[in-house]
Amino acid sequence: MPQTSICVYCGARSGKKTTFSQQAEALGQAIATEGWRLVYGAGDVGLMGTVARATQSAGGDTFGVIPTHLMDMEVGKRDLSTFIITETMHERKKVMLMNADAVVMLPGGAGSLDEFFEALTWRQLGLHNKPIVLLDVDGYWGPLKGLLTHIVDNGFADASLLDFVQIGGSVDEVMALLRRALS
Ligand code: AMP
Repeated sequence: MPQTSICVYCGARSGKKTTFSQQAEALGQAIATEGWRLVYGAGDVGLMGTVARATQSAGGDTFGVIPTHLMDMEVGKRDLSTFIITETMHERKKVMLMNADAVVMLPGGAGSLDEFFEALTWRQLGLHNKPIVLLDVDGYWGPLKGLLTHIVDNGFADASLLDFVQIGGSVDEVMALLRRALS
């Protein structure tokens, strides 16, 4: 059976709180310790670099996908177990999701949200059945939870939209949610 792979979406920056980097490091480590593979955007900047270095340091496999035009800006991390260069952002997102069994989103910006919403909307359309988990470091994703509830409350999505997103307040919680969903 192929190795269980977790796609992590997260900031190309590290954000203002040290807890963001701490949790990114803990998640990268936990993925390796579990014997899982990290799938991510192959950058060596921000939380992306932090999570990847943590998985590597703990002896885990890494699978990164980056488009040509971001090789310089996001510092393409060529020492990953698998390093893939795509022509477009769309290909990058597709290759990342195709090669993962589950998705986790750490704190991040508009790029992370773009990736998250594609995974969520594709799940809503029945195009995949992969678990989607938010690592809610220091309540960072509170406004996103509020937005999703607001969308359902106003009749723009079925209540099932909320069931597609699981939320963990710590790396331990996220790992427990993933284990349950993937067992
Ligand atoms: P951010 O959360 O904005 O720091 O971005 C995190 C990652 O998402 C980075 O690797 C960005 O290159 C990527 N990203 C930014 N915009 C998009 C987009 N429109 N589609 C896919 N990925 C994106």
